[in-house]
Amino acid sequence: MRSLAIKLTLAFLAVGISGALLVAVISGLRTRQEFGRFVTQRRGNPLLADLMLGHYTKNSSWEGIQDWLDNEPFLEIVRRRIVLVDGELTVVYSHSPEYRGLDTAELNLEGGIPIEKDGLQVGTIYDVNRFASGGRLPRPSPESFFLRNVNQATGAAALIAALLALALGILLSRALTRPLRELTSATQVMSAGQLGAQVNVYSQDEIGNLASSFNQMSSQLAEASRLRKQLTADIAHDLRTPLTILRGYTEGLSDGSIQGRQELYDLLHQEVAHLQRLVEDLRTLSLADAGELPLARRAVDPKALLERAGLAHVMQANQKDVALRVEAPELLPSVAVDLERMTQVLNNLVTNALRYTSEGKITLSATSNSSFVTLQVADTGTGIAGDDLRHIFDRFYRADGSRSRDRLAQSGLGLAIAKAIVEAHDGTIQAESTPGEGSRFTIQLPKSSN
Ligand code: ADP
Repeated sequence: MRSLAIKLTLAFLAVGISGALLVAVISGLRTRQEFGRFVTQRRGNPLLADLMLGHYTKNSSWEGIQDWLDNEPFLEIVRRRIVLVDGELTVVYSHSPEYRGLDTAELNLEGGIPIEKDGLQVGTIYDVNRFASGGRLPRPSPESFFLRNVNQATGAAALIAALLALALGILLSRALTRPLRELTSATQVMSAGQLGAQVNVYSQDEIGNLASSFNQMSSQLAEASRLRKQLTADIAHDLRTPLTILRGYTEGLSDGSIQGRQELYDLLHQEVAHLQRLVEDLRTLSLADAGELPLARRAVDPKALLERAGLAHVMQANQKDVALRVEAPELLPSVAVDLERMTQVLNNLVTNALRYTSEGKITLSATSNSSFVTLQVADTGTGIAGDDLRHIFDRFYRADGSRSRDRLAQSGLGLAIAKAIVEAHDGTIQAESTPGEGSRFTIQLPKSSN
């Protein structure tokens, strides 16, 4: 069941219906039973009265009634329950000897089935279920007996229904609050600094969805924390090498152990320029993270954008014997981009394509559909292995660990910056690749509205 609201409604309905049914069934059964008894008592018990009358008629008195009733096998149960008084209201039959011969007034008897002969009441049968203390024979009236029993039955049914509702309520609330309790302890674990805590997902309702979202959030927080630590370590690592080189040479120059010469100054300049680029890249990324990357957007023709990037690399391509082509129809809708930033992205893609392609071709193309303009940079180079492909947009990720790397040119930040810039333009960037055949980077940008 997908909705907690439905679950709760059905649970309350089940409790309500089972309670009502219980009360109805128990009090209904009891009422029917008691009503039958009530009616019988009201109407009297003609069979017993007839039997008594038969005896009276035969003997013209109640003489011998005690012996007869005491010895009549089929009256075994009835005789214990009745008291028979004669026309003068004296007890002529009672199972208990102490009541025999007593006057009715002394016994406080109520109700009773009259025995009549020729219009004259010759006796009365009283039904005594219980003997009260003090030798009295209390006999509640049939009406109050009926009402008392029905009330008792209704009370008992209500009590059982309440107990059932309580049991169902406890079960239900335990089942409902269990995932909430787990969530609470997981958040406490997380606030104590242990990111990544997971909870069980028991259902697909609102609480189940909350648990799934919590798990997702927790994993993302753990991953973000891991990336942050990794990033700090990567930055420290990438700063250390140029700083060590600069420090070594400047110390040598200052204590006179190294003589200044043009190549050394060039090398120092390159290291400083590399440091400056690294810091600039990190600043671009942090601005993009904060959503504050300044963009001077204006409508730009996608083909012109590709030609600009192609032109910047045509010499290098010729030197490597790589065919660099731009393929785009003349009339493409324009895109609203920051020309410098988007050129930076395309330059990065083409530089990478050139780095990993020898004697093949690199194609820069543009197409459009109703809402997007798609730019592609495809090469026929080395390609990227599946494991690396998943990470190439990560900061400081360099897939070619085994291949010799130009430390000054490759920081592992190029594609991370490209992604940040494209996303700041509300676009997307993706990479596809077949190792050994080449790679294709696809940028989708929303069409300019004017
Ligand atoms: P860098 O600035 O070091 O080039 P990038 O972020 O631009 O880093 O690229 C990340 C990694 O992706 C590179 O180290 C490289 O291994 C891989 N890569 C990027 N573009 C291509 C491509 N066209 N062909 C093969 N590998 C590529």
